[in-house]
Amino acid sequence: MSRIIGIDLGTTNSLAAVWKDGKSTLIPNAFGEYLTPSVVSVLEDGTVYVGKAAKERLSSHPKDTAGVFKRFMGTAKKYQLGGRIFLPEELSAFILKRLKEDAERYLEEPVEEAIISVPAYFNDMARNATKRAGIIAGLKVERIINEPSAAALACRTLRQDVYRSSTEEEDDDIVQLVFDFGGGTLDVSLVECFDNVIEILAVSGDNQLGGQDFDDMLAAYFIRSLGLDFDAMQPETKAMIRKSAEQCKQELTKKTVAEMAVNCHEINNKIEISRKDVVRICAPLFEKMGKPVKRVLMDAHMTPAKVHQIVLVGGSCKMPVVQQYLQYLLGREDVEAIEPDYMIALGCGIYAGIKERKEDIKDMLLTDICPFSLGVNVVNPQNPEKPLMSYMIERNSPLPVSREQIYVNAHDNQSQISLKIYQGEGIYAEDNLYLGEILFSIPRMPTGQLQCFVRFTYDINGVLEVNARIPMIYEEKRLVIVNKELGMTEQQVKEKLIEFQKIKINPADEEENIYVLEWGKRLYVQSCDEEIKKEIVKRLQYFQYVMAHDIYHLPKVRKYTTVFIAYIEGMMNAFLDFPEEALRDGSWYQGEDDEMDKEEVENLFKEWEEDKE
Ligand code: ADP
Ligand code: MG
Repeated sequence: MSRIIGIDLGTTNSLAAVWKDGKSTLIPNAFGEYLTPSVVSVLEDGTVYVGKAAKERLSSHPKDTAGVFKRFMGTAKKYQLGGRIFLPEELSAFILKRLKEDAERYLEEPVEEAIISVPAYFNDMARNATKRAGIIAGLKVERIINEPSAAALACRTLRQDVYRSSTEEEDDDIVQLVFDFGGGTLDVSLVECFDNVIEILAVSGDNQLGGQDFDDMLAAYFIRSLGLDFDAMQPETKAMIRKSAEQCKQELTKKTVAEMAVNCHEINNKIEISRKDVVRICAPLFEKMGKPVKRVLMDAHMTPAKVHQIVLVGGSCKMPVVQQYLQYLLGREDVEAIEPDYMIALGCGIYAGIKERKEDIKDMLLTDICPFSLGVNVVNPQNPEKPLMSYMIERNSPLPVSREQIYVNAHDNQSQISLKIYQGEGIYAEDNLYLGEILFSIPRMPTGQLQCFVRFTYDINGVLEVNARIPMIYEEKRLVIVNKELGMTEQQVKEKLIEFQKIKINPADEEENIYVLEWGKRLYVQSCDEEIKKEIVKRLQYFQYVMAHDIYHLPKVRKYTTVFIAYIEGMMNAFLDFPEEALRDGSWYQGEDDEMDKEEVENLFKEWEEDKE
């Protein structure tokens, strides 16, 4: 029999697990380690290095080595390595192939199938690219699961182990906040466990925030402090500085002060960095980190106090400053990281076990959710140039989900209906990701007389099926959205860049109007309540109408709109009472190393500077 393995295909590190001897077991690689760096390097002769060896080449051969390609899964981004061109999914396939080989060596039997986890916010294109990566690596991938689902599955199982030893505990509903902070991404989710069901209540995240940002910020600090010229540096030197920054950051897990040293032909220098410096230097990162936490709590109508357990996942959660920040943010002491590197892979391994129909856990259910809203464009009466987004499926709906809605013709004598399908949270259709279109030719008739029934079905694998029928003309059309190329071509990116440079900055007297509009739009995105969403749209449309047609009443309407938005914001924030100022100035940090202040650090730099001369 061939085996099924579970794979955590990470941005920075990947690992695999298998169901063995009644439990999920991690699979060691050739080095006897569990983590394989998600790095690929291609030599001039076409030889491909994967994992640890490739990671070493990040600093020695940065041009022929790629990491962090998971961020671009499902996009048309191309990598040129060793004179050859690769898509992100091809690079991922190299990693998967290595994990498959490691597993076969470990299990001494063939592995033909894998369950792979992906971030909850991955869209259809990224999910399908992940499946394609599996196929390229010679693995059948029938099931893609969300990373927080996998972590939840693992946590629940660990919890059961605890229960077996202490029968006193009651197995009530348990709500867990899963904070997954990896190298390139942050995923925050709320998960509820009861009986044999694991349900994800809400997910949020920031796919542009990870441990690497700490490395970059510390590297920039190093460069700035020593007055180096970043632009003039060789790529190899830049990579070395970043590597040294990461080492220093990791040392700060064990120590309160660590050295950051770079020794190469261009630079031979070092600085000392304390945990407190990290808090100060990386303040914007801590601020960003708090946002998705707030958002999941808000989406699920929860407060930090109602959460039973805080689960830390991902390598960056090992940072004491991150743990302390979360303790402060959530107002709780019980923030601790248990096996943060392995949680997701262990969950994937359990899932592989379920799939192999192992008796002991087959009764477990897993409910996933749709991490983004899906909808169609509708006419915007205030501004026909900018169609609105009409939602069919709301963000955070449990999967599978199927919804039907009726739309009508918007104009007299309209000759066709064009249903454009979008994914995203923007009010205007154009602010969202375009997925496809269904077009009908219709008989001319008065407004509102022709009905079109639209059904969206979004399945557990993230495949969207759109059905549209117009009974009056006996027509029905169907569109399945899979395997689409997201992202722009390089040419399009270049065009966008030029377009952006031409954009004029709006005149100062419009600033306030724009601010009010943007503020409203943000609340629209953040709110999960249908009624509130509708009301926000109504008010913003009216405000825009007045902006365009009624300058005289504008100040008054702006005032009313502002009061309304402030009220909604207040209502939404009433759920949570986070101390905002402290997040910004870093005063939340109660470090052991208070003695290392800014002035002292600067004096040290001066000394080194002088040493150099
Ligand atoms: P991903 O999910 O993106 O693959 P991981 O969960 O493996 O990522 O986390 C990788 C990140 O964790 C890297 O940025 C790495 O520097 C960071 N990391 C790993 N160990 C430590 C540590 N001891 N202290 C601080 N950061 C760490
Ligand atoms: Mg991860």
